[in-house]
Amino acid sequence: MGVGEIKRAVFLDRDGVLNPVVMRDGSPASPRGLGEFSLTPGAGEQVARLREAGYLVIVVTNQPDVARGLLPEEDLAAMHRVLDQAVEPDEIRFCPHDDHHECACRKPKPGMLTQAAAEHGLDLAASWLVGDGYKDMQAARAAGVRAVLISADYNAQVEAPQRVADLAQAVDLILEQG
Ligand SMILES: [Mg+2]
Repeated sequence: MGVGEIKRAVFLDRDGVLNPVVMRDGSPASPRGLGEFSLTPGAGEQVARLREAGYLVIVVTNQPDVARGLLPEEDLAAMHRVLDQAVEPDEIRFCPHDDHHECACRKPKPGMLTQAAAEHGLDLAASWLVGDGYKDMQAARAAGVRAVLISADYNAQVEAPQRVADLAQAVDLILEQG
């Protein structure tokens, strides 16, 4: 990468983007271990397209089940090893906190994005986020990155700047708009 070249990222939410959500009591939720964890078909291929286009691909995921005692950190780590090996993002960042911690990283706060930007020297205005929930869209707006929502039954009411049907279409849109 040349001096002065723009460094940009695509931030990917995890649940509902790279792996299917688990429905609990009618609401989308996070898998609580490898037994509930599977990858979105084609996820690795789509991440490869982004990386070939010069984007850093950074997973940013809220995992409050860690704080709630419902997900041991080693089980989260086991899922992330699978994700890392099969999908090959540049980084996986997660927030293990719950609302009452008032941390800076839990989406809709932009902390995971701004921290990554500081560490990698990213141009956030040239970056993107792909997610499936309102917290993703709000974190993107707060960080000043463009956002795409992957439509699902559970997010019809979410306000989003752009909507697509799946991850492949999100990547198409990002590569078109640059
Ligand atoms: Mg999600």
